[in-house]
Parts: sequence; structure tokens; C-alpha cells
Amino acid sequence: DRRTAQEALSRLTVDVADWPQEGVTFKDITPVLADHQAFSAIITALAAAGRDDHGNVVVDKVVGMEARGFILAAPVALALGIGFVPVRKAGKLPRETHAVSYALEYGEATLEVHRDAIAAGDRVLMVDDVLATGGTVVATRQLIEACGGTATGVAVLMELGFLDPRSKTGDLPVSTLLTL
Ligand code: AMP
Repeated sequence: DRRTAQEALSRLTVDVADWPQEGVTFKDITPVLADHQAFSAIITALAAAGRDDHGNVVVDKVVGMEARGFILAAPVALALGIGFVPVRKAGKLPRETHAVSYALEYGEATLEVHRDAIAAGDRVLMVDDVLATGGTVVATRQLIEACGGTATGVAVLMELGFLDPRSKTGDLPVSTLLTL
């Protein structure tokens, strides 16, 4: 259940100080993924964001953001019985895309999605490992909307509350296993 997932996540996540740059504490979830029980528990917990109180699936697609989002979003999509859509960094997707650029702390990043990956009217759940400033989620939401879809929310393992991501994500529902 959710409590088991939270416990496994806090026990197995490794904090890496000053990586990839000084002042950042990187949340390394690879030990969580390497533990089958923990991996399974976090996927079940993330997938709950795509169901209503009766357990009915209320989304049409699951979007994962490159790269750790892929590892989580794909099994969430399978658990919900719906399709998975990758949102990738610029220049990786081979067919027609929508693209959104957004500001990083240093410089800019561009994310893309295949135009035909999300249909008009699709309800889409975003999945990622860490919600930090919220920039990635806001850009991904814009990609979903450019396709004519609706972002129903984002499910993450960890929210870095001290970076105040909700000032960016606004009214978007955020489901998180841990708030740090
Ligand atoms: P942001 O756009 O600032 O919300 O950053 C979110 C993206 O950066 C996610 O895809 C995370 O995987 C990654 N990220 C940001 N901060 C961290 C961190 N402290 N540890 C691990 N991943 C992070």
C-alpha cells in the first residue's frame, strides 16, 4: 500500500550531495528500482493518481518525461491498462512534434512530444521522479494542451517543497509520495 511505498522510498533513496553541481542534493532512486518489492510498491502508489475513489481508471494516457520519468510512467501505464507517451528532449523524436522551451536555472531546455501521440480530448496523467522547480511539469502540460489533451495532474515520488514548485504548477493536482 501507499505507506509501504513511502517507507521503501525513504529507506532506499540515496541523497548525493553537490551533484551534478554544488548546492544540489541529487535524489538517486536507482536503489529503489533495483528492489522488486519497492519498485512494485511505488508503481502501484503512482498509478493510484489515475484512478477515482472506486478504482476506476479516469485517464487515457500516461506521459513520462525523459529520462527517469520513462522508467516510472511506462509501468504505471501498464498497471492502468492504458498507453504510454514519451516527452523527450529536443531532437530525439523522429516524426512531427510539438515543442516547448522553458527557462532553467542556467540557460534553456526544450521538450517535445509527437503530435499524434495524444488525441484531442485525451485526459493525461504526467509521471516523473522528482518535482523540483515545476518547470518540467509546466512545459509538459503545455505540450499535452498543444495536442488538444487535458493534463489531469502529475504523480511524482518526491516533491522538493523548499523550491516551491506549486507556485508554478498552480491549480494542477499534484500527487506525491514524499514531500521534502
Ligand atoms: P524541475 O523542472 O525543476 O521541476 O525539475 C524536475 C526534473 O529534474 C525532473 O525530471 C527530475 O528528474 C530532475 N531533478 C530536479 N531536481 C532533482 C534532484 N534534486 N534530484 C533528482 N532529480 C532532480
